[in-house]
Amino acid sequence: MATPKPQELASIQHQPHGDWWMDTKPEFRPGNYLYAANPKSVEYVGLPNARAWDPAEEDWKLPPNWEEIVLEGLRVRLERFRTLRIFMDCCVRCGACADKCHFFIGTGDAKNMPVLRAELLRSVYKNDFTLAGKLLRRVAGARPLTLAVLKEWFFYFFQCSECRRCSLFCPYGIDTAEITIIVRELLNLIGCNIDWIATPIANCHRTGNHLGLQPHTLKENCDYLLDDIEEYTGIRIEPSWNRKGAEILFVTPSGDIFAEPGIYTFMGYLMLFEHIGLDYTWSTYASEGGNFGFFTSHEMMKRLNGKMYLEAKRLGVKWILGGECGHMWRVVNQYMDTMNGPPDFLEKPVSPLTGTKFENANQTKMVHITEFTADLIKHNKLNIDKSRNDHLKVTFHDSCNVARGMGMFEEPRYVINAVCNNFYEMPPNTTHEATFCCGSGSGLNAGEYEEMRFRGGLPRANAVKYVAEKHGVNMLACICAIDRAVFPALMNYWVPGMDVTGVTEMVANALVMEGENPKEYNLRGEELEQPIAVNGPQAEEEAAGDEADSEEGGE
Ligand code: SF4
Ligand code: SF4
Repeated sequence: MATPKPQELASIQHQPHGDWWMDTKPEFRPGNYLYAANPKSVEYVGLPNARAWDPAEEDWKLPPNWEEIVLEGLRVRLERFRTLRIFMDCCVRCGACADKCHFFIGTGDAKNMPVLRAELLRSVYKNDFTLAGKLLRRVAGARPLTLAVLKEWFFYFFQCSECRRCSLFCPYGIDTAEITIIVRELLNLIGCNIDWIATPIANCHRTGNHLGLQPHTLKENCDYLLDDIEEYTGIRIEPSWNRKGAEILFVTPSGDIFAEPGIYTFMGYLMLFEHIGLDYTWSTYASEGGNFGFFTSHEMMKRLNGKMYLEAKRLGVKWILGGECGHMWRVVNQYMDTMNGPPDFLEKPVSPLTGTKFENANQTKMVHITEFTADLIKHNKLNIDKSRNDHLKVTFHDSCNVARGMGMFEEPRYVINAVCNNFYEMPPNTTHEATFCCGSGSGLNAGEYEEMRFRGGLPRANAVKYVAEKHGVNMLACICAIDRAVFPALMNYWVPGMDVTGVTEMVANALVMEGENPKEYNLRGEELEQPIAVNGPQAEEEAAGDEADSEEGGE
């Protein structure tokens, strides 16, 4: 089925249709659900019940005792996670979260209201784990776990992108993303995962990155990008790979070395590190910052997070610098300490250029590239000509995991304002803590899910459209590889003409590199409106200074 046109998709009915929520069932149709996990991928990471199956078919090929497995899994998790039991018990149905989810706004489906999404699990909890539910059943909102309920879980909990926007508005602090994580764990106990999560995880275990890129492929791709940098700047950069004894290990999502527009951010990292002479190494083994374990289970996110730190230990670096990623940061900041334990074999991060102690990273030993760059700018360590980005009118999307997940709001704005002259904020109820998710933490670029991706991304796109119409914004900046992967298609659908960039790409385009050639193109190979003749303003100032010196010397 072809994806509906934007005008059709924007016609959304938010009125409830009258039937009691327990009596409505999801309709699996092309465009609104994700394909089942490839059995080879499920088997590779040791998850149970690997088999070929189709969510749209009646028979899900479940184990004969699947209800028992799921209920026992829920019992174990209610004991293990105190938050889960509290979240199950303390919702007062105030409705403050109801209209805050981008999937409810984009679909009008009541079961995408966070309160009702959680109720899909809560109803089973009540039925099997509370006295009121056992006595009063449906009157108390309880219902038994049936195949129909399981199918609802699969449908709606894979529509939640675990963004936590709803939790911001809940007076009790109920975090529906945490509920979603638990339900996905339960679904994985009986082999019900989706392929855009399962196969990247298997790839990550096999080769170290989601895309399954082998070490030589990573290096070759990097070499192509180095050729491009040389073509645009005249400078040949020679980065190191797997170098023991480097001061810093740099880890970023593999998507950035493979696809546009992420590759320009990757080129930006290379140019920035060359510019400041950083003693760092890339790794062909810790070649993925992204952690799709976050979308699967606590155990899986622990395993994938651990490999970055094991590689840091093997290489003997002091600390880790992390690239523009989303859920890597959420896992590192919110879960790692209790799951993997603190990485005490690394040093507390100190910038070798400025001496700044990143005390916020004392525990994780991992510094975000944006705070690292902001610190460099603050200490005048970068030679920047911000007019090189004058063709851009930029807005910034706060990535949920970096913004709500680790509280990083001002650093990216500080960097953007330092490297470009035209920055415009989206409306405040769609930025900072209240940022709207890009929508694709629930389906990335899965083609079979296009309609739902565009529905889930509608509130974000709407805010981008607002600044495009009001200020002529033509560039959407972000600091997350999932954003960079999903926004081009989303913008093309809702806000045609809007381009997408990583913040470090903008930094690189503004950098005045020592020994650079006159330039007619930017990193994307796009012709510059105003070709760059020499080394920018600083070079001109230095040249003027030299002239004055020689005149003085002559007198
Ligand atoms: S965590 Fe995000 S996607 Fe999930 S219910 Fe809340 S607002 Fe919706
Ligand atoms: S805001 Fe919190 S308490 Fe209110 S309905 Fe939503 S989850 Fe329940």
